Amino acid sequence: MSQSDKPKPSPNPNALIVVNAPEEMQRSARNLSREGKSIGFVPTMGALHAGHQSVIERARKENDIVVVSIYVNPTQFGPGEDFLSYPRTFEADEELCEEAGANIIFSPENLYDPGSRAFVEVGELGDVLCGISRPSHFRGVATVVAKLLNIVRPDRAYFGKKDAQQLVVIRTLVRDLYLGCDVVGCEIVREPDGLAMSSRNRYLSPAERRQALAISKALEYCKYRVADGEHDAMKLMEGMAEILQQQPNLEIDYVALVNADTLEDLRTLEGDVLVAIAAKVGATRLIDNVQFRDLPPA
Ligand code: AMP
Repeated sequence: MSQSDKPKPSPNPNALIVVNAPEEMQRSARNLSREGKSIGFVPTMGALHAGHQSVIERARKENDIVVVSIYVNPTQFGPGEDFLSYPRTFEADEELCEEAGANIIFSPENLYDPGSRAFVEVGELGDVLCGISRPSHFRGVATVVAKLLNIVRPDRAYFGKKDAQQLVVIRTLVRDLYLGCDVVGCEIVREPDGLAMSSRNRYLSPAERRQALAISKALEYCKYRVADGEHDAMKLMEGMAEILQQQPNLEIDYVALVNADTLEDLRTLEGDVLVAIAAKVGATRLIDNVQFRDLPPA
């Protein structure tokens, strides 16, 4: 038998493939759905770490096919933010996706044609918390997620609870626009010392890295005080601010205690509560949060 007569090995059905063109991704996803395969979708901006990995692994467990998008979305960055310098580590990301069991990486070059004019507005949900210092951020997030969901048409879309406001915005987007997928919130993955994993942690110098720990420490303090019966939002906020203010290179953006669904400020913690912190450590803006479910009235 000559070399060319040998039967070709059949392609590995689980091999990871990379798709760049939105039209091709849309076609593939439609075909997979027609074949009766469920699709789990994990949108990311790349620079993947163990936090992303756990989200991908969750999608792997719950779906036939896992699609991970890697796209640094320009419209969610404001002027002077880190769009150009945002870490781009495609080869390492590919390896992590493969290890975590993804089937398709969707990595479009651009999702905004020069003529594109349609954007998604999310009202006051995008104006509070991070929206105060990043006024067009959530409009950019909602728009790109709407585009991605329309391309991939997943059964389930997976997002980390680390971006708590983003998760509220996306649940609202999917519900209000009848985008027809389940939105799954995944637990925050932390470094062993408590710092929430983030693609931006790599910007931190060793000294800043130590100071950044005050963010998760302040949230731990809040958890401890709430468990101890303290439900007064002002007192908890002051205690957290005091911990943060001990760090010379840490500038608080906000410490907020809000309703976890409406993001409205609370005076007294009750029901589903989101306690969120945003702070700049040196030049790096970091966010983290803790959530309480069903807190009884004080
Ligand atoms: P990003 O690449 O930062 O846009 O993140 C992509 C997704 O991964 C978002 O849904 C994030 O909330 C999620 N994510 C990022 N960091 C973490 C983390 N430490 N734990 C869990 N999910 C995370």
